[in-house]
Amino acid sequence: MDIHIFWDHRAPQGLAGPVGRAVASITNTRVRVSDNPIVLNGYIGHRRQVDAGIVLDSLGTCVHRQCIQCPVLLVIGQDLFATGLEFVFGLARPQTQVSVVSSIRLSNEYYGRHPDDDDLIERLAKEGSHELGHIYGLSHCNNHECIMYNPHTLDELDGKKKEFCPVCRVALENGKSALLPC
Ligand SMILES: [Zn+2]
Ligand SMILES: [Zn+2]
Repeated sequence: MDIHIFWDHRAPQGLAGPVGRAVASITNTRVRVSDNPIVLNGYIGHRRQVDAGIVLDSLGTCVHRQCIQCPVLLVIGQDLFATGLEFVFGLARPQTQVSVVSSIRLSNEYYGRHPDDDDLIERLAKEGSHELGHIYGLSHCNNHECIMYNPHTLDELDGKKKEFCPVCRVALENGKSALLPC
């Protein structure tokens, strides 16, 4: 039961490998990383944001056509929003096993802080693993240190550990075994 990570050309380059390895460690799953094969639709000019729902539509169609049965995480560099929300770090659609995260609000630069690739790698791995957790059937967790905690700020995100809490870890392994092999 592998995970596919698609890395968009506008996401920070050189980080795909480290993020892939960190996601593999957090989720205890093999990860394959490749270039993003889809055109990013859903850019809304006046918001300067991409509609995460439209991205997941395109991604769902792509994985269906390519007969990919593994969970997929797309990493992009543009800001994301979802209906009714000012922004989202990421979004998952468990029905089609696809998810997306944006690097932009995970970078120190966005908040006027000093750039640091290690910070960005860690945050992308945490948020990517969080969205993959949704694909495996997990809901949000009240434990502030758990990957499935829903952070509203960068500091809350940084307060999470790079692991699922014991309850979510059991749910994750159950969710993995419930999906078809791929
Ligand atoms: Zn969530
Ligand atoms: Zn948890």
